[in-house]
Amino acid sequence: MKYRLHSILEDKHGRKIKKILKIIPSRINAMHFSEVEKLIGQAVEECNIIKNEGIEIQDEGLANTAYLLRIYCSMWGSISLFWKCAKSREYEGAWFHLQDGIDRNNILSKNLEDESELNTYKIQQYLLAYEEVFPYNIFSSMGLTSTSCCSICKKDSFDNTCIHVPGRIYWGQMANTVIETAEIKEISLTKTPEDKRCVPKKDDSFFSDVQRLFDYVGKPLNVLIYDEERRHVDVVFGDCISVYD
Ligand SMILES: [Zn+2]
Repeated sequence: MKYRLHSILEDKHGRKIKKILKIIPSRINAMHFSEVEKLIGQAVEECNIIKNEGIEIQDEGLANTAYLLRIYCSMWGSISLFWKCAKSREYEGAWFHLQDGIDRNNILSKNLEDESELNTYKIQQYLLAYEEVFPYNIFSSMGLTSTSCCSICKKDSFDNTCIHVPGRIYWGQMANTVIETAEIKEISLTKTPEDKRCVPKKDDSFFSDVQRLFDYVGKPLNVLIYDEERRHVDVVFGDCISVYD
């Protein structure tokens, strides 16, 4: 099942969200991060109202679309927090918010009928270019023995009476596997971890190239083009990502 965000952007609450989304990029470019945080909070509230309406009138499609629109708004929140950390030289925090943004974008591209709706595809390219310039290439990965359950019906993950598939959206919430107890069996290093947030601690000197880029980039939403062969980043000044072209 695929969804279209535009289908809910025209009703009363949708229009409020649309109005907020229109101004978010310019507020990020102006680096008014606390204002963005407040605006995203308002947009998320509106999404929750639409989701609850969907549940009330027994329209699962509406509830799920509202969930995805909330993810879309939160993705812009992640981009804003990424820059807030970047500007205060909190590199690890910036990396975490970047990963949140990438995860949210992945949820959107998997579930939207049009993968480029509201510039989702362009935003993905933007986030991945920033991921490339961070100097993380080795991550830790944990081998666990654990017990887990379904986030929706709370049944044990091996209980085949649970009908929920992790990663799918049901009535405005995503089914996930919740780890209940875990015992670490081994920790290994890998280039392809499940979670790229598991990074080794690094001191600030490690990020000098990233810092130079942050200083150079001008507007936060200017597009980066990463040339893998030359290991070089071009910044496209004046070509910012946005919600609407
Ligand atoms: Zn379940």
